[in-house]
Amino acid sequence: MSKVAHYLQEHLVGEVMTGTDARHYFATDGSILLLDPSLIVYPRGENDVRKTARFSWQLAERGRIIPITPRGSGTNQTGSALSSGIVLVFPAHMNRILELDTKNNTVTVEPGINYAKLQQTLHTHGRFLPPYPASIEYSTLGGAIGENTSGEKSVKYGDTRAYLKALRLVLANGEVIETGRLHKRELSKKLGLATFEGEIYRSVDTLLEEQHELLEQLGRNVRRNNAGYYLSDIKRRDGSFDLTPLIAGSQGTLGIVTEAVLSTEPHNPQITLMMARFDSVEYLQQAIIELTNLHEPPSVIELIDQYVLQQVNELNPNQLKEIIKPPFSAFVLLVEFDNGDRSLKKAVKQATKLLEKYATAVQIETESEQQQQLWKVRESTSMLVANNTGAQRSTPLIDGAVPPERLREYIEGVYGLLKDIGIKPALWGHAGDANLYVQPQLNLNQVGDRQKAFRFLNEYTELVIKLGGTTGSSSSDGRLRTPYLENMYGTELYALLQKLKQIFDPYGTLNPGVKFGTSLDDIKAMLRTDYGLDHLYDHLPRS
Ligand SMILES: Cc1cc2nc3c(=O)[nH]c(=O)nc-3n(C[C@H](O)[C@H](O)[C@H](O)COP(=O)(O)OP(=O)(O)OC[C@H]3O[C@@H](n4cnc5c(N)ncnc54)[C@H](O)[C@@H]3O)c2cc1C
Repeated sequence: MSKVAHYLQEHLVGEVMTGTDARHYFATDGSILLLDPSLIVYPRGENDVRKTARFSWQLAERGRIIPITPRGSGTNQTGSALSSGIVLVFPAHMNRILELDTKNNTVTVEPGINYAKLQQTLHTHGRFLPPYPASIEYSTLGGAIGENTSGEKSVKYGDTRAYLKALRLVLANGEVIETGRLHKRELSKKLGLATFEGEIYRSVDTLLEEQHELLEQLGRNVRRNNAGYYLSDIKRRDGSFDLTPLIAGSQGTLGIVTEAVLSTEPHNPQITLMMARFDSVEYLQQAIIELTNLHEPPSVIELIDQYVLQQVNELNPNQLKEIIKPPFSAFVLLVEFDNGDRSLKKAVKQATKLLEKYATAVQIETESEQQQQLWKVRESTSMLVANNTGAQRSTPLIDGAVPPERLREYIEGVYGLLKDIGIKPALWGHAGDANLYVQPQLNLNQVGDRQKAFRFLNEYTELVIKLGGTTGSSSSDGRLRTPYLENMYGTELYALLQKLKQIFDPYGTLNPGVKFGTSLDDIKAMLRTDYGLDHLYDHLPRS
């Protein structure tokens, strides 16, 4: 055991590991990247986290950087939970529901809690947390906060940030703070503190005041943007101030979450599900825009294209046999309404009318069994994501979104790129948020496929930026998308984001390389040649 590991083990209650097998396991996550950590810490409580951060800070003061990376289940697809230093693994011990407040409809959790477990508990109380990702079975709440995760229900309910009410956060120097919305008087107190917390409040407040106009350019005209940091809702017009929204999506680069309070929504299992088929991308775009503009918008608008269906049909002809048959329409849209009351009927009626105007066929299901059948169409993407029959793997490279009115250009542009590069097309995702996925089947052990991967990454990013979109929509930058961040925001805004990072993390001990400090050459050096979903094979990963 190294001196550092030995020192930490003496001071922490949780376990410290340096064995090659543990380091090997944590050298990868859901991304195509690999980075060897020097040691693993399993914190048994906030004190362990605090002490680890303090230790790393003190070393940094003496010029030695040992970075810290918090980690949930490591299912992110951008290398955001990798570290060259210490990985803080939360699911082992810090995984409890601390309080279920049925009066205020909030839940307080530790970051390592499994998302699906929490959701099950909430369901038994007639509640749920809507922005769950497709990886709900095998990811954590800490990871969802780190990424500001969103999912199939986000088109109606929003992202994780919208539900995050308060946090306990360990700062870079080991100080613990509580975040939540502060009124003017409470803010004044914080501004007067002689601690690191006070310094952070003062510096962020000044930054917001001085860079007010520049900051307005941060919002892209998309429904979901997770690139960079979210500075829009810290200070409100009434003078209230809250660091909580900033921490959502910050990927462990500003502080480490040890406790979170989230609000929940009533869970209504009584839904109506519709499946609409389209031959025209123009009609598809128009239908989606009109659906999202309905007075009672759908709770799900998910897209699957014909190429997904064709490939699934080849891999497993039984998967969709009873539900949808070839020849497949160009696009299939799943539209769900979960309004719990009489407004459901009205909403479905309006949606049917507008879908019938644009789609070639519309199917409506109100019974749970038939709905489950329809869901199989969307869930069939897992066949592509998890397919490991040959040497090629479904490679997660992108997660962009564009303004909804540019969805058609986006889809046509992506198909064009894939054709030029020689990658099989297959497109799916959260169409209501104009956030679509392509995970090309590539063998990263082959030079030719590696070149294809980087060409796609570069040209896709150019396309999304040109369309006014974002490179990180349902999840954040990580390492993989960091090289493109400056391009997307421009030099001035990027420098502002760097300033913010500097305020929270002056020595660069908190998850360095994520959001800043990773170039395309770094990415190439970190590329896995044996990419696979080894961490996830207990489940069939949905996408
Ligand atoms: C098949 C598949 C489907 C997916 N579908 C979706 C989807 O629909 N929507 C979506 O948004 N994402 C999706 N993802 C990405 C990923 O699963 C989610 O972002 C998930 O919420 C990450 O949770 P995790 O526990 O695995 O976090 P990790 O990957 O371990 O960590 C994610 C980030 O959070 C930070 N973090 C973790 N714990 C803390 C903490 N305590 N304090 C501060 N920061 C912390 C980490 O440092 C890292 O930067 C998918 C991934 C896969 C493989």
